[in-house]
Formats: sequence, C-alpha cells, structure tokens
Amino acid sequence: MVELKNVDVHYKDGGKNGVDALHNVNIRINDGEFVFIVGNSGAGKSTLLKLLTREIVPTSGRVFVNGYNLSKMKRKKIPYFRRSVGMIFQDFRLIPDLTVYENVAFVLRVIDKSNKYIRQRVPYVLNLVKLNDKAKFKPTQLSGGEQQRVAIARAFASDPGLIIADEPTGNIDPALSYDIVELLKDINKCGTTIIMVTHEHDLVQYFGGRIINLSNGSVAFDDYIGGEEGEDEGE
Ligand code: ADP
Repeated sequence: MVELKNVDVHYKDGGKNGVDALHNVNIRINDGEFVFIVGNSGAGKSTLLKLLTREIVPTSGRVFVNGYNLSKMKRKKIPYFRRSVGMIFQDFRLIPDLTVYENVAFVLRVIDKSNKYIRQRVPYVLNLVKLNDKAKFKPTQLSGGEQQRVAIARAFASDPGLIIADEPTGNIDPALSYDIVELLKDINKCGTTIIMVTHEHDLVQYFGGRIINLSNGSVAFDDYIGGEEGEDEGE
C-alpha cells in the first residue's frame, strides 16, 4: 500500500522564500491498483515520486510504502525498502555493455538470488515482454520501444510489490506507447501495484482508470474515469 498523509514538501533553495512543491497531499493507493499521475510541469509529480522512493522526506506529514514508514526509516534500511519497488524511467537506463539477458539478471544478482532462480526467472520475464529472441542483443541494437520493454522486464524481475514508471512512454514512438501501457497492465494483473506518471492525455483517455491530477502541489482530481479501450468490441 502507498499512503501519503497531510504531506508538505518545501524546498528551501528555490527562490527567496523557497518553494512549496507539495501542499497537504493525501493519497492512498491500495495493493494491486493501477494509477496514472498527471499534471503540468512544476505541479509536483517528480517530488511525489522522490518521496515514494525515499530520495527525500516530507517537510511535514507521513509517507508509507509497502509497509515501510518512510518518514521515519533509518538510513541503513533504505536499500531493503528499495528492493520492494521497481523503477522504470523515461530514458530506460539500461547498462549498455550488457546483453538484454544480463541487464535483467544483474538486478537479481545484486539481491543475491540463486543462479537457479535467475536461469528460470530471466527467460520468464523476457517472455512476458516478448523479447526472448533478443536476449543476446545489446541495448543499442534495440528500438526505443524494445529497450523500454527490457526495462519493464528488469523492474518486474524481482517481483516487487510496486512498480513506479516515470514517463515511460516519453522517449518512444507514440504508436508504441499503447503497447508499453498494455504490458504494464499485464504486470498489474499479476498483482503488482503500478504508478505511472505521464503527460500523454491520449493514453490516459484511452485506458481510463484511476487518475490523480496534481496542480500547483495539490491533488486537484483523484477519481476513476471510463476509458475507450475495448469500447468497440461489444459485449
Ligand atoms: P513536476 O515533476 O510536476 O514537473 P517538480 O516536483 O519537479 O514538478 O517541481 C515542483 C516544484 O518544486 C516546482 O516549482 C520546481 O521548480 C520546484 N522544485 C523541484 N525540485 C526542487 C529543488 N531541488 N529545489 C528547489 N525547488 C525545486
């Protein structure tokens, strides 16, 4: 579960009196939800994500993620907490010298998974993103959409309770953006909570679901909208 209670974030170094990046934010996201976070530039989206990954702590209020109280967490616990969160970035952040297979295996080695587990898990997640046939390729030999699919496989490899995707479709062909969200939806169906930040209105309209709109550091909208996905298919 993700919960923010009465959260304020004030940056001291932004202008004469600093900047109130988030103000009295209250959000609760239950396990297994899929949530889009939208909002204009400067609305506070990155600040919200930094709270959820414990890069920053709130100036006031409390943040809970996957059972951890992040506002109080001791520094030495941070790496253990971070293992429970998978991250997907706009710029993929794959390791260029490693193959697709090794990029995914690497995160499992870091958390001391056995070789046997890795030999089973990596092909499984690469199959999920339909990239088994490119396991031996290097990231530079793949399209943007394919690289992001590797990043999705990597984020899901350790079976985290939560995946945070920060503008995952920002650097790929718009036509392929839908496939990326479909993949995240598939992973969500396996029980993983997904939080996806985007400013692509078309995508949000198409998929619908829970939308949280940040505006000037506050939650301006938090509700469910109907999507267009599957509308023409009939019942
Ligand atoms: P978004 O991701 O929605 O574009 P941000 O969370 O990056 O919004 O920024 C929210 C506000 O906080 C903006 O006014 C931004 O200029 C300010 N801000 C973000 N990071 C810092 C920082 N490290 N120091 C000072 N001000 C910051």
